[in-house]
Order: sequence, then structure tokens, then C-alpha cells
Amino acid sequence: MTEEHDAGGGTRERLVGPGLDATQAFAVCGDALTNTKLDGAERLAQIMEAQGLLMAAAGPGHPVRFEDLLDRLSGEMAGSLEGLMPGWASPPGLDALRFLDKDGFTTEDAFDYRYEVVQVIRAARKVGRLRGRVTLSDLQGEYKQETVYASLKGNYYHVHRENLVRHPAVTIEDLRKLRLPPPALDFFEDIPTYMTHQGYWFRCPACAWPMKITVEGQGGTARGSVQCLYPWHAETGASYIFTPVRGQIPELDQAVEVRTPSALHRALYTGAVPGVPQALPVAGYKALARDVWRYTTVPGLPEVRLYEVLAERLADSGVQVKLWPDNDVYDLQVTRGQGRGQEVLFTVDFKDYRWSNQLVGKLRADGGDKGRAGWIVVPDHRASQIPQLTDECRRHGMRAATATDFLERVVRTVREGGAGE
Ligand SMILES: [Zn+2]
Repeated sequence: MTEEHDAGGGTRERLVGPGLDATQAFAVCGDALTNTKLDGAERLAQIMEAQGLLMAAAGPGHPVRFEDLLDRLSGEMAGSLEGLMPGWASPPGLDALRFLDKDGFTTEDAFDYRYEVVQVIRAARKVGRLRGRVTLSDLQGEYKQETVYASLKGNYYHVHRENLVRHPAVTIEDLRKLRLPPPALDFFEDIPTYMTHQGYWFRCPACAWPMKITVEGQGGTARGSVQCLYPWHAETGASYIFTPVRGQIPELDQAVEVRTPSALHRALYTGAVPGVPQALPVAGYKALARDVWRYTTVPGLPEVRLYEVLAERLADSGVQVKLWPDNDVYDLQVTRGQGRGQEVLFTVDFKDYRWSNQLVGKLRADGGDKGRAGWIVVPDHRASQIPQLTDECRRHGMRAATATDFLERVVRTVREGGAGE
């Protein structure tokens, strides 16, 4: 719990730390700067709204000047709160968090921070533990994972959800062939302009979604860079450079060495693969909206892989593996036997949180919630979160593991005829 100053000069307890207001404010700014559907007046109105949010967060006695905010919308100080807001208004432990990049585009860190804070608030509200002044309007317009899943419900739920994981950017013709339920078609949009260059775009070799394209400099000295927005994809190889030439289809060069997984992690590896992506035309393609990509496609890749490898290794063992069983109570379930004698060995909630503090906050808020899984499983590249998650999970009678550690454990348990969780 943290304390926060309020407008009356006192203090108040909040379930989530301060910082959501600032995060929201910069999200509003980021949208104002990069949303091509807005005209100049709407952009200005949105930035003024963000100024209001920052002023409310800072409280009286700390005015946030409009021109100071404008200074933070692009360039070297873009998205930084330093000197703009009182120190306590920055998200705790996140002093270096940048809300916007040099192009005024919401950073992946800020995008995840906002989403994960909202998950904590939602969990707390669900079990009636919400205190403080987070109002309904803070949550309105927020992306809801449940809305995505609800739009896919029906006999082909698994097929549809897997299609959102495997095909986050498709031609209009292929989108039709996927036969997604009509509400789910709304998640697909034109390729966003910040991911295009002279009418072309590139797929990330890990997730197949469009990569962000940045061009710096002018004329002969101009340099282009192309990166997946999901940092781990970029780190494992989805990072390229090119020389922009007017009227020419851009050709990429690898900017970082493509990483190869260790033997232990190879089976579940979902990072970038070697090979330089080719330019694709913007016309005729549609891509998932950023939030659906980030919270359905990205975590879905290691989730589906874990399911496939488990099912393969446990074939003929008399044990069944189910992905997304029973209306999403769990992400994964491992059972032995059939009918009344069926024994549940493992239940898994798969979590890809950027900030483990938020995941701990959510587990804590979920405390009284029924139907929780026995295991929290994180992607292998989040292994550093395991000690903290293990401590928290223990309090709730749960356990935490990376995908590979969980896989090894399940296979060993089944081979030894053990009882699971
Ligand atoms: Zn990617």
C-alpha cells in the first residue's frame, strides 16, 4: 500500500500506487499525437485534457504549464515526468519510465503499465476491496480481455482464439477465410501509419504483427529502423535498419544478432527466428489493434506452444491436456482418467506481465476469488519474476514456474504416476 496526497492536502490510501493518472495523461497525449483520425483542434483538446489529468494528479500548489507539457511530447525529454510533476506522482520504482518515445508514440512500458494497473483495480473491485478514488470513468474505454474472449464464444472458441494468436495481420481475403465471429472482425484495423513506410510494412519474425518503423534524418543521411514493439521479440532479433530511398521498396538489414535458445529452452522458444522480413504492401492488409495483439497474440504464442509440446510428450500416457478449458477458468488443464473418476493434476493461469509488482498486486486482490489455478506460469524470458511470484503464490496455496520448468515438472510427475499439484 502506498500513501498519496489528495487535493485537500491530506493523505489517502490507495490499492495501486500513484502514477495511473500520469500514465493515463500520457496515454491521452500519445493518442493525440499518433491517432491519424484526429484533426488539429481535436488533438489540441486532447492534450489539454491530459494537462487537466496531470494537474489533478499533482494537486494544488503544483501547476503543470501547457508549454511545459508540450515540451515533453517529442524529442529527448518525451514522456518524462522529471521536473514536470512532483516526485511522489511518479510511479514508484519507475523513475526512468518513459511514457512516450521520441515520435510521441506510447512506449511498450507505459502501455503495459497502464493495462496491468487496471487489472489490479478490476480484481480489487470484483472482490469489493477497492478503496481510494479510482472512479468508473478511469476504467471506461479501457481494453477488456473479457470482451475479446466473449466475442469468440461458441463451438469454435478455441479455433478463433488460436487464429487471433497465429494470424494477427492478414490479407482481407484471408481474414474472410478465418470465419471469425462478426464482433471479432472489429479487432482488425488498417496497418497503422507508424508501422508503414512509403506504402509498405514488415512482419515481426516472432509474432507476425507489423513492426514499428522510425525514420530519422533527411535526404541522403536518412536512416530507417524497424522493431517489434514487444521488447523481447526485438531483443531476440526482430530489429532491423534500412536506408530510405524515395520510390524504392525498403530492404532491411539485421540490426542485432539473432539469438539462439539453449537446448533446455528450445522446445518452447517463441522468439525471433533468422531470416530478414520482406516488405509487404499496406493495401489489402488488416492487423489486430495494439491491445488485442499485446494481450491475446503475444502471451498466446508461448501458451499455445506449451500446450502443443505437453500434449505431444504426454501422448499415450493416459493423461489429457486441455487449452483454455471450461470458459477460461484456466488457461491450461492436465487431467488423468475420464468421467467421475477423473483426477485433475495441474491447472494453470498463464501470465505475461511486464511489471511483477502488478501481478503480485493482482494475485493479492484476487485473494478471495474462487476458481483460481494451482499454478502461475510465466514465459521463460520472465524467469527473473519467479522468486517474487513464488513468495506471493505460497500465501494463496499456489505455485509459480517458468513455462519450461513447468513442462519438465508435469512430464516427470506423469511418468512417475504422481498426484500433480
Ligand atoms: Zn513481435
